[in-house]
Amino acid sequence: MQARAVLASVLAVALVLSGCAQPHRTIAPVGAPPPESTAPPTPKPHPSVTKPAKPPLRPLPAKLPAGLGRNTGVRPVALTFDDGPSPAWTPKVLDQLKAAKVTATFCVVGREVQRHPELVRRIVREGHQLCNHSWRHDLDLARRPVAEIRADLDRTNKAIQKASPGAKVPFYRQPGGRWTSEVLGVAKNLGMRPLHWSVDPQDWDKPTAATIGKRVHAATRPGAIVLLHDGGGNRAATLAACPKMIADLKRRFGITRLH
Ligand SMILES: [Zn+2]
Repeated sequence: MQARAVLASVLAVALVLSGCAQPHRTIAPVGAPPPESTAPPTPKPHPSVTKPAKPPLRPLPAKLPAGLGRNTGVRPVALTFDDGPSPAWTPKVLDQLKAAKVTATFCVVGREVQRHPELVRRIVREGHQLCNHSWRHDLDLARRPVAEIRADLDRTNKAIQKASPGAKVPFYRQPGGRWTSEVLGVAKNLGMRPLHWSVDPQDWDKPTAATIGKRVHAATRPGAIVLLHDGGGNRAATLAACPKMIADLKRRFGITRLH
């Protein structure tokens, strides 16, 4: 008796299953809405099985693309400070620029903008330029899918606007200077010009202040764009190099705001 009952339920289950296996359209009533609106949701296959592999990074071009901003177009040179804003260093850089009566361009990282919006407001209030330097300083950003690049730059601009409504962000600088034509296109679409540089004292590599000063002095030509850092690490040497360096550049070329 027991066995009969079991057999009956097995048969019942089998019948139900075979019914479920029927293609949905054969049981949908005539004139019903399209199957996708009446069909039960398709079960999602396991994510680890179907998740598409991350698209491979596109290769970097063999040489820098054309059209990068690498000089001021006039004799005076421009100072650019990257990877901030940083509560430890940016205010001190701003104090020095104010004392020297010059302005600079701050290439800000979106994540830091979100953390320190008051520093963005001070940068703008004191007459400096802003440059988008991506959300999290992803060195590979320019090699990623265009939609991803666009979302990153857009997110950074939105953080800047939230910190300082109406602030202009005329420039984009690719982290590491690893440009591709794709990132150039996205920056252009978002109304930003690519800002590269012509003098890099490699202050991120922790040389002494004297070395930073010497490198900038030796490499700077009329119209140079000088790359320095006010964020992303300990910038004591950069800060210590600034007074002499700024005075030297001012005397030899003049220092201009980027336009
Ligand atoms: Zn940087």
